[in-house]
Amino acid sequence: MVDIDTHPSGNWLTSVVSCAILLKWCMRTGCTTCGSLEYRSAVVRGALKAIGEDTTQYLEGRGRKLLRPTYRDLPLELRTRVMKETAIALRDIEQGGIFWDGISFLLVELDNHYTPSLDEQSLDDILKGTAVGETLASMRNYEAQLVSKNKQRRETELQNKLLKKEKRKANLLIHRAAPKKTSEQRIKEGGEVIHVFLRSVTNASPEDILVTIKNSKDPHVLDKLPKNLIPTNFNQGVISVDTRKYIVKLIDKRRGRWANLRRQLSQGLPK
Ligand SMILES: [Zn+2]
Repeated sequence: MVDIDTHPSGNWLTSVVSCAILLKWCMRTGCTTCGSLEYRSAVVRGALKAIGEDTTQYLEGRGRKLLRPTYRDLPLELRTRVMKETAIALRDIEQGGIFWDGISFLLVELDNHYTPSLDEQSLDDILKGTAVGETLASMRNYEAQLVSKNKQRRETELQNKLLKKEKRKANLLIHRAAPKKTSEQRIKEGGEVIHVFLRSVTNASPEDILVTIKNSKDPHVLDKLPKNLIPTNFNQGVISVDTRKYIVKLIDKRRGRWANLRRQLSQGLPK
């Protein structure tokens, strides 16, 4: 156990932090490995000493049990006085520098656990107008922002969820009110290329269907034509040689009615 000499500044807390840095004590807030016990305990002992309490019971090598006291190990009344002394020592600490980790660490601990009686100064009162006080304020501000941001996020998520649910419900109702259209209806009313195409051939003459096939730039147009619309009887004379050649090529090796059409179109075509 190190007995810490008072810092030239006269502030016992500065001495403890200097010592902690020199000896590389852990000062990480909420360290799960060591709980920064060495540092926290040195702060408690420093404060005890500063308020004139006996700390010899915490010295090593005399069969003492409580070697590294933390705030929690002290009786409530003493704990409050020790915390108050720590807060007072914090007033003299200037912002920045290598001290700062250990300082904000203490600040969190005090902010969470310092509970002075009503007629005594609060942590805010003690630290008012100091660098550490500003840090405390911005710490709280940051936390408040975090809380409000989280709240906002949760609210937005909830709202989106509700909106989605409502949309699903509305869709379902529309679906129920207007059942799926039959394919005849879709062809009659649909705006897609295939619907337009089918509308153009449904009531067309066989000759017009052949011209529509020729005029369509779609290489798969034959696959889109319903089988019952494949022209079988048509007036060969009104179909141009170009159209006939084009469709014969398009029919290629198709069978059935297509093969039949190919035969008819090929009649008299120059090879
Ligand atoms: Zn640690």
